[in-house]
Amino acid sequence: MRRSRATRIASRAELVRRVAFGESDVIVTLFTEQMGSVAALARGARASRKRFAGLEPMHQLEVEIDLVAGRDLGALVSSRLVRPRLGLTSSLACLDAAGAALRWLAAVAPAHVAEPALWAEIEGLLDELDAPASAPAAMLGAFGLRLLAAAGWGLELAQCVRCGRACPERSAGRLDLPAGGLVCRTCGGAPVLLTARERRALVEAGHGVVDALARPEDAALAARLVTEAIEVHGRGPR
Ligand SMILES: [Zn+2]
Repeated sequence: MRRSRATRIASRAELVRRVAFGESDVIVTLFTEQMGSVAALARGARASRKRFAGLEPMHQLEVEIDLVAGRDLGALVSSRLVRPRLGLTSSLACLDAAGAALRWLAAVAPAHVAEPALWAEIEGLLDELDAPASAPAAMLGAFGLRLLAAAGWGLELAQCVRCGRACPERSAGRLDLPAGGLVCRTCGGAPVLLTARERRALVEAGHGVVDALARPEDAALAARLVTEAIEVHGRGPR
């Protein structure tokens, strides 16, 4: 058999996770623009900070990774910091929101497949958290709902997923997360009751109206539903 050669990719990326490995190495999980989720070994990253400059979460990086077909773990060749987000990293609330967003992303992003919609969503959120115009928790909740949609798991909150009947605007709705949305009473109902106001807030947030989740309890509800939806789709946060 021929020795398999590595393919070098260069991509913008976000650092999702870093775990110490051996004496001086680090295994990083990156969400890259070009190849989606990629795990890579950064040799000597703990011994020398120079080679992998700015290998930190929350800042946009430019990385080079050698990948060998059939192997999950690549080799990080270089990294450099392209867009620092110092506003984000100086706010605890923004850091919390960004950390939760990156955990959701890690759970939904497939390995070695470019996902332009997911890339656009996470970049948009991290840039917004760098200079927040809304409550970070609201931004996180709205991001989560859009992330579900981008992953193909969007919640149907306007009509019954079984019979298609529209849920009247002023009505409460019953949500079945495994089914992916509302299930009307005629179709058997569902365990999670959403008030009309909660439902409207979630729908508007999913359409990009971040301030629809200005109430902390609505932002928390959105975050909880996103976490649970990701779990029921079988790839819970790692
Ligand atoms: Zn129905």
